[in-house]
Amino acid sequence: MDPERLILEFQNLLFIESPSKKEGKLAYYIADIFEALGFKCFFDNSAENTGSEVGNLIVKIPGTIPSEPLFFCAHLDTVGPCENPNIIYENGIFRTDGKTILGADDKAGIAILIETAKVLKENFFPYPPLEFIFTTCEEIGLLGAKYLNIELLDAKEGLVLDSKSPQVIINGAPSSFKFFLEINGKSAHAGIEPEKGINAIHLLAKILAELPTGRIDEETTMNIGKISGGKYINIVPDLAIAEGEMRSHSQEKLEKLQQLIQHKVEEIIKKYPVKIDDLPSFKLKFKKIFQAFYIPPSDNLCQLVQKAGQRLGWEMTFKKHEGGSDANVFNEKGLKSLILGTGMQRVHTTQEFIEVKDLIKATQLVIEIIKLKSELS
Ligand SMILES: [Zn+2]
Repeated sequence: MDPERLILEFQNLLFIESPSKKEGKLAYYIADIFEALGFKCFFDNSAENTGSEVGNLIVKIPGTIPSEPLFFCAHLDTVGPCENPNIIYENGIFRTDGKTILGADDKAGIAILIETAKVLKENFFPYPPLEFIFTTCEEIGLLGAKYLNIELLDAKEGLVLDSKSPQVIINGAPSSFKFFLEINGKSAHAGIEPEKGINAIHLLAKILAELPTGRIDEETTMNIGKISGGKYINIVPDLAIAEGEMRSHSQEKLEKLQQLIQHKVEEIIKKYPVKIDDLPSFKLKFKKIFQAFYIPPSDNLCQLVQKAGQRLGWEMTFKKHEGGSDANVFNEKGLKSLILGTGMQRVHTTQEFIEVKDLIKATQLVIEIIKLKSELS
């Protein structure tokens, strides 16, 4: 590999803004690079559903030896703020002036795959058939991955480049559900006839005070993230809404948590002293955001990555993630996926940075995985 070429390309990518749904410019820039290298590129039709300017970009790299294909994935979009970034590169670290995010999440992953393709083109070693997937709208609910048509892929397993340390293999991630709780009370003039009203905000507050938040146990979290309700200070509010999310590596614990919320809401509403007709009432909805996965270290994809790292002389460790990524969706669709680190740090903040030495290491690991895969075929 060529570290200077990698750094230069990474820097180019950082200047191409690509907030979720506006990934078009970056996607075409990348497609041009892979096409110039002679690899076939196409977009799927996920844009109809994601609302992005483009579909997911898929690059097919025919192998030089027969083997099971392997995919690599990076996402095209970034969180904000990302307008007119002032990129600073000094002492081997890329960061911004603190006004915008850097966007190493996930442009580091993209840069790694571009450098990898250039190395493959130089033909120093045989390689298996590869598929590179560049997804859209990852940051707004893994939408590109959700609407990816997997029929377009030959690979059944692969690696998602979307985590921190190149020496940590993420082999598990939690499930996540969001919840929506609506309390219906009754409105009335707050000064003249408050006894004719049922205060939905007061009732919601009682319920929320009884619900757990934060870390529930070592593999489960819950957050009440948003509340709304009420219109004027002199009206007893008839509507109050709370929204939040819960995550766990255990499906059973999530189901129990949902039951607990349901039970608490029913119990507190039942005990509430004010009742008029069939009010107060409530609506409670849960919706899955992403599905948990766990791949044991003894699995051959885990072994492939671990051995590749060890061949580079590194100690490799396995770890469960606390967030969701495209890997959750791929695993749910039956595409076995692990998450690899790219070196990016403090992502989703304007303090985001990446050390170039880690970006280089992550690229070395990807190339070593490809080499090892071809040797094992
Ligand atoms: Zn990411």
